[in-house]
Amino acid sequence: MKIAVLPGDGIGTEIVAEAVKVLRALDLGLEMESALVGGAAYEAHGHPLPETTLKLAKEADAVLFGAVGDWKYDKLERSLRPEQAILGLRKNLGLFANFRPAICYEQLVDASSLKPELIAGLDILIIRELTGDIYFGQPRGRRTAVDGHFPGSEEAFDTMRYSRPEIERIAHVAFQAARKRNKRVTSVDKANVLETFQFWKDVVTEVSTQYPDVALDHMYVDNAAMQLVKAPKKFDVVVTGNMFGDILSDEAAMLTGSIGMLPSASLNAANQGLYEPSHGSAPDIAGQGIANPLATILSAAMMLRFSLNQAEQADRIEAAVKTVLSQGLRTADIFSTGTTRVSTREMGDAVVRSLK
Ligand code: NAD
Repeated sequence: MKIAVLPGDGIGTEIVAEAVKVLRALDLGLEMESALVGGAAYEAHGHPLPETTLKLAKEADAVLFGAVGDWKYDKLERSLRPEQAILGLRKNLGLFANFRPAICYEQLVDASSLKPELIAGLDILIIRELTGDIYFGQPRGRRTAVDGHFPGSEEAFDTMRYSRPEIERIAHVAFQAARKRNKRVTSVDKANVLETFQFWKDVVTEVSTQYPDVALDHMYVDNAAMQLVKAPKKFDVVVTGNMFGDILSDEAAMLTGSIGMLPSASLNAANQGLYEPSHGSAPDIAGQGIANPLATILSAAMMLRFSLNQAEQADRIEAAVKTVLSQGLRTADIFSTGTTRVSTREMGDAVVRSLK
């Protein structure tokens, strides 16, 4: 089993090191090879996703990814910005389904900004489509290069689009995931205003007829944003497009207390996947040794379950994470009075100890 390890920028290197430590402690004989990606790759090779990195990712059974980006790259031409590496990996590996579970650990109920009764026991799954929508439409704007020049136009637009096969395959993923959970799917759209999402709604409804055992409801994205903070436990599986999914999954992340706790998986049709924390490179805390590595460690667990067929080992990691939380160990982002504050490395060490 070969894993491409792409730590990236900012806290990426710190948190991925802890996840690698945890994977090694399992003694599975995993072959792990690292490569540069994002800003680090741009500095070294002039491109955020060099050919060598892409080749490694394609040849691996799974990719363990940290995070990319830093404000200092904001002025670069868009195609050279660190975030393009993620879009490039998604496109080249055919990753179309992004799973973002939002689970509230009982030990962290107090870390949420919502009332405990609203989030205790929360376990929802947001499934975001990754290859279509406005992020892959046609952009045009002040910084869009035409033959290497910036036209400096005074208007900008991005086009939103979805094709039938793209909607069908993500709908199937959502209904199949719901079958293994509480058998409810909420499809989030903006069909009242956008043609793209009227089409989305129609196609999801058609696909639902193949899953009579799963309940489907539709919700406009503005209402979904509201319901997620009003009554999040009402949801089971939420399926939505690329942009709405981007925003709603971060909102759902905060319900659980810290974005530093939430893993994610992006899968292709062959269950090959890219596993990464839901958060970014956090340049504001990079290099301080205070980032929470648990989202990345839990992403490694998802990798074992989805791409490497090692569900028992995934369970072991998840149980170890619960144990360290029960021991009262907390990184700064989830720290509260009465608990013990630990560094990124100490948290990784504690998970390894608990595994053993
Ligand atoms: P961010 O997720 O990096 O940070 C948001 C806030 O959460 C910050 O205050 C940060 O300190 C905190 N935070 C994030 N992860 C944490 C962790 N593990 N432990 C403790 N605190 C944590 O989002 P941002 O600040 O909007 O973006 C920073 C950079 O990351 C940008 O360049 C952005 O483009 C990039 N980004 C990358 C990805 C990715 O690589 N997949 C995703 C989102 C943003």
